Amino acid sequence: MTKKIAVFPGSFDPFTNGHLDTVKRASRLFDEVVVAAMTNTSKKPLFSSEEKLALISESTAGLPNVKAMAAPKRLTVEFARSIGAQFMIRGIRNVSDFGYEADIATVNHDLDPEIETVFLLADKQYDALSSTIIKEVAAFGGDVHRFVPAPVEAALYAKLGDAHQTK
Ligand code: ADP
Repeated sequence: MTKKIAVFPGSFDPFTNGHLDTVKRASRLFDEVVVAAMTNTSKKPLFSSEEKLALISESTAGLPNVKAMAAPKRLTVEFARSIGAQFMIRGIRNVSDFGYEADIATVNHDLDPEIETVFLLADKQYDALSSTIIKEVAAFGGDVHRFVPAPVEAALYAKLGDAHQTK
């Protein structure tokens, strides 16, 4: 039987506990999940592609059927096809995510009807969590411990300064 491979594409700038929860759930649905750090042209990244890749790999190390790849500046469906993935995972936190994600899924379906987008609803405890909010909190010295995996927490403080520890 053909292996069911899913790509979870995103900016992951940085990877949060909400992303991790989606990855864990996807890893139970598919034979293999590839978390792909992509470039979102409308967002200026804090972390480089290599940094994101390392952080996602460390954060998902306990999940044997999950791996991380960097795919900057590539069309997502093309990347999915290149690794033999038949599915694309996206997380939905709220109605505005749904509108945005539905449009992307429609265009992607047009680009490659063979790749099916699968939406997973964010868990209630993570549905207010975004990479943008986490960067804001960390930049002003707030505690992001509960919101991101440990390697990401360390990387955020290293990059943005350790204000919360010196208070
Ligand atoms: P993008 O720039 O591609 O939207 P993000 O890194 O912001 O990349 O998000 C990647 C995917 O994860 C998107 O489908 C997004 O809706 C989803 N996502 C973001 N935050 C959460 C969360 N807290 N819980 C579940 N899914 C999330």
